[in-house]
Amino acid sequence: MKILITPKSFGNYKDKTYPLLYDKGYEIIENNLGRTMTEDEIIERARSGVVGIIVGIDPLSERVLERCADLKAISKYGVGMDNIDLKAAERLGIRVKNAVGSNNISVAELAVALMFEAARHVSVLSQTVKQGGWDRVRGVELTGKTLAVIGCGQIGREVAIRGKGLAMKVVVYDPYFNDKEFLAKHDMMQCETLSQALAVADVISLHLPLTPETKHMINASTLELMKPSAILINTSRGELVDEESLYTALKNKRIAFAAQDVFSKEPPAPGEKLLTLDNFILTPHAGAYTNEANEKMALYSTRNLIEMLTS
Ligand code: NAD
Repeated sequence: MKILITPKSFGNYKDKTYPLLYDKGYEIIENNLGRTMTEDEIIERARSGVVGIIVGIDPLSERVLERCADLKAISKYGVGMDNIDLKAAERLGIRVKNAVGSNNISVAELAVALMFEAARHVSVLSQTVKQGGWDRVRGVELTGKTLAVIGCGQIGREVAIRGKGLAMKVVVYDPYFNDKEFLAKHDMMQCETLSQALAVADVISLHLPLTPETKHMINASTLELMKPSAILINTSRGELVDEESLYTALKNKRIAFAAQDVFSKEPPAPGEKLLTLDNFILTPHAGAYTNEANEKMALYSTRNLIEMLTS
């Protein structure tokens, strides 16, 4: 019985996780490529004898799942499951679980960091000084501004709480969120529609899964609803935003700034035009890349896998 482990950073937590797997008699196959695996590389390693996969962002498509003959369980090292064909997994009787609550604090903190970057341009100012300059870029204050949190799950809630901590007004939009107590406790307002939230917001932060319903939720028409001073933060998934429309909106100063940790194609293609804009920044999908989150992701995903394989 073998387990394939694909995430690169998982290796830092071997001491705490491998003994749990060895105890149950599993043999471990590591991703020795030092990068995200391709479909064929996964199939090559998991086509027979692999009962479980601990997966990062590597593609577990229908094609892959159909070829992994002994696969019983997939444990996500993280939260977003858009790289796993959940329908195919269900059809093939493969159990799937994600590491809920492992990285919400880290991603929320990066979202706040990106908000400050968009408001105060810290990295640009520092870079200017390092290059011998002393020019300033005028910023804006966040205090008193309205933060719209789109998607009020594990991460969105933490961002919303931090927004209140920064003395911002906070509105949330999430049609599936129903925790009135949370909203009352933190003095937040729930918007009935996405349009309402976008229209009142100075900062918009996206915290939703990528689904057919949410793909390109930010597009030419929804960008049109935003204030010209609006800042858009996306730490969720690149495909939530129609990047062509975002480019046009930023270039024409239809909105002020966008800061993302995710992109439709990661890493972006050389010459990607959004990266040429001064009012756009992108970090390399680093939201969950902290000591604390990585350790919890490793432990939770290992425990989830064992639980799925043994219960
Ligand atoms: P979660 O499941 O706890 O919360 C998602 C929320 O989105 C839920 O409350 C759900 O009701 C809401 N939602 C779903 N469809 C919606 C819609 N159409 N409109 C408004 N709200 C909707 O997930 P989470 O842990 O908060 O993570 C959110 C996303 O962040 C993940 O799906 C993942 O894509 C991304 N993520 C990114 C990183 C990173 O490193 N940048 C790390 C972890 C997660």
